[in-house]
Order: sequence, then C-alpha cells, then structure tokens
Amino acid sequence: MKNQGGRRWPLVVLTSSPFHGHMTPTLQLAKALHAKGFSIAIAHSKVNPPDPSNHPSFMFLPLSDNLSAIDDSGSFSNFIHTLNKNCKPSFQEHLTRLISEQNEENRSIVVIYDFIMSFAGSVSVDLNLAAIVFRTCSAAYFPAFLARLQLRQEGRFLEQDYAIQEMVPNFHPLRYKDLPFSKSPIEDWQQLVAIFSKQIRPSAVIWNTIKSLEDESLTRIQEHYQVPVFAVGPLHKITPTPPTNFLQEDITCISWLDKQPPKSVIYISFGSLVTLDKKMLTEIAWSLAKSNQRFLWAVRPGSVCDSEWMEFLPEDFIEETKERGLIVKWVPQRELLSHFAVGGFWSHCGWNSILESISEGVPLICQPANVDQMVNARYVSFVWKIGIELERFERGEMESLIRRVMVDEEGEEMRVRAIGMKEMVKEAVENGGVSHDSLEGLVGFISSC
Ligand code: UDP
Repeated sequence: MKNQGGRRWPLVVLTSSPFHGHMTPTLQLAKALHAKGFSIAIAHSKVNPPDPSNHPSFMFLPLSDNLSAIDDSGSFSNFIHTLNKNCKPSFQEHLTRLISEQNEENRSIVVIYDFIMSFAGSVSVDLNLAAIVFRTCSAAYFPAFLARLQLRQEGRFLEQDYAIQEMVPNFHPLRYKDLPFSKSPIEDWQQLVAIFSKQIRPSAVIWNTIKSLEDESLTRIQEHYQVPVFAVGPLHKITPTPPTNFLQEDITCISWLDKQPPKSVIYISFGSLVTLDKKMLTEIAWSLAKSNQRFLWAVRPGSVCDSEWMEFLPEDFIEETKERGLIVKWVPQRELLSHFAVGGFWSHCGWNSILESISEGVPLICQPANVDQMVNARYVSFVWKIGIELERFERGEMESLIRRVMVDEEGEEMRVRAIGMKEMVKEAVENGGVSHDSLEGLVGFISSC
C-alpha cells in the first residue's frame, strides 16, 4: 500500500524488553498492524526470545545483549541499565542496514519501542526515524509515577512511607503505599529515574488500555507528551496471538476445570516475575485449605525463594486439599479466565492479568508486589470495585477474603460490576468502539510517516 506522498507504507520495527508481560502485548500489537497491511520486524533481546515459527511473516532481529537470563538476584535497575547499554549497538546496526534497503524500495521505517528499551527511541531519533513509545502498563501508572517523582523531589516521600495507609494529598485515589517502586531500595529508584529521564520525546504514544476505562489518566498522558496518544487495548481481544510461551503451558488444568461447578474455583497466580517467600506462600496454602473452596494454583518454578517448585507445601495440606485443588506450573491463563468454572482470581495485579480478568468479568483478590501493581490494585479495589486488596498476610485474613470474593454477597456484587466491564471491553474492540477506532487512528498515523 502507498501513502499520500506515493511512498509504500512504512516497515514497522517493534522492540520489546524480554519480560513476558511486555513481549506478549508487543507481539499482539505487531499482529494487529500486520493484519492492517504493514510489514513487521521484531528486534528482541536474546533472553526470552519470541518464537519465529509462531509468526512466519515477521522478520526477526536479534540484539546482542550479552545477558544469559533476567537477573532477579541483582537490582531491577541494573538489569534495565545493562539491557539498554548492551542492545543499543546492534539495534543501530540493524536499523542502518534496513534504512538503506528500504530506501531502495521507496519505503520509510517507523519504530515502536517498549518504554523500558529507551535506547531504541534515541537511536531512531538519531537516524531521523519516527519513534513511537509503547506502554504495556495501566495508564493510571503514569500519573502515579510522576507523583512519586514529584513527592521525592519535594522530600515528601521517604522509603519508610511505603507502609503508610494515608492518601497522598492531591493524588487521589493513591495512598503512599500505592506509589510505584515504593517497596524498592531508593538507589534502585534513583537509577531508574536516571535511565528514564533520558527518554526522547516520542512521535506518538501507544497504550494497552481502554479509553472508557482510563480516560482521566490518558488525558494526563496527552497533556504530558503533547503528541497523539492511542489507547488500543486490550490487545489480546483485538488480536489473539499464540502464547509467548517462556514456559510450557499445562493444559490438563482445563479438563480438570471442566469437571468443576460454575464459578466455584479460585485461580491463583503471581505472574511471570514475582518471587515470594515460603512463609507467605504457606499462609496462602493454609488459607485455601481452611476456606473450603476449590482452587487452581499456578506455582511458577523458581517463584518461591529457596524452593525449586512446590516442595515448600506441607504434605498434610496436599493430602487435605487433593479432592478440590490443583497445583500446576504454568497455565493458559486467558483461556482459563474465560472458563465457566472460574469464579475469582487471586493476582499480583500485573496489568496483563488485570486486563485479562476484566475481559472475562472475573473479580479479584489483589496481592500487589511492586512497580505498577500497587496502583493497579488500588484501582481494582477502590475505584472500579471489582476486587479486594489483601492487607494482612496471615491465613485468617486470607481465608476471609477468599470467602468474601467467592461466596458472599459482596463477591456477587463485584462479579456483576466485573461483567459490566467485560461488556465495556467487548464494545471497545468492536467496529466503532473506542479501541477499534484508536487502532485505526494509529494505522493512519503510521502510514503517513
Ligand atoms: N500467564 C500465563 N500463565 C500463567 C501465569 C501467567 O499465561 O500461569 C500470563 C498471563 O496471561 C499474562 C502474563 O503471563 O499475560 C503476566 O503478565 P502480567 O502483566 O500480569 O504480570 P508480569 O508477569 O508482567 O508480572
């Protein structure tokens, strides 16, 4: 296809950080743009690479990162710093080569980059290419991040504040404890701010969210960037893609769910990155046992400190719950959340998990761990009222929350609101819906570059 200047539609080069929750929506966005007629290239780290066989029409550009794994033993900010430093030269080489090839074909290049891969923005600007930033977090996280920055600069946020339940003045609905990175060491936060403050001004911004859900935060984003903002989510409902599969999915859980009564199972997962200590997980186990509810628990190998998989679980817990509980390593989460037997989701509140839960009308128990998860949990529990946040990590409290979500009238009310959101999502992605139209706007924007 050609744009108004008679040039062929641009080649779109997307790059994602190697986190599951970033790679999956990046591939979904790539697939959506490919369906609209764009040629696609994916620049990726060698850690957790995407599987090219799932996307035969894409070009793949490996970046020399010199990293062997996501290093969760060191600090998050060190990892991001090294990733940015190491990937930059090969990204630049790929783009330089692609520019001369595309010039011959009378075609420009547009780069869409994950915010974490900030080097991609600066390389693109240096090479005179349009650079669009793609955010895979909630829109609400953005003003919260700015609030955290401002409070720290004004000396109004100290590390010990993270436990504070008080509302932050002028930053409704956030409490101090909800602010991003409030649980991270201050050095980590400062290094991240140093990395992210070097971000270029992008040509446009894409957010994996829905305008009707996060209108106010999107307006703040628009005011901040002063460039077009496209809210095109939830992308998994716009273009379902094969799972990114950093881990093998255990599909036996679906046949187990088939045998359970409707809305009777609580699904527990803390995503692809969070690690928790044995003591907390043992409390979770006993709360599940005492609640008498059916459960499906995805325990990711390596997600429990000092435990390879589920050795931390007491044998009498396994014996006591074997008739009504299933523990697996990794599940097909999107499929599972749409299953009739699932009635609740106990989640760390990663944004993909929230979008997937909202899209299927499933209420939540929120147990956020870090980064944007506290902000997401606050919106789920306090603003949208489709979940309850776990505040005290002991079995009695957890048991009571399970019953409130799965059995009590309160849970039913949350489910009704969640189902309302499911309808909102459905409308947003349909022809004429806000996300559908925003994607059309993005297509128009890229094709004119
Ligand atoms: N996920 C999955 N199977 C599991 C657990 C998680 O497929 O057993 C997927 C889930 O569907 C979601 C992603 O992993 O798309 C987790 O992303 P999220 O943003 O929720 O959290 P993160 O892993 O980035 O902390």
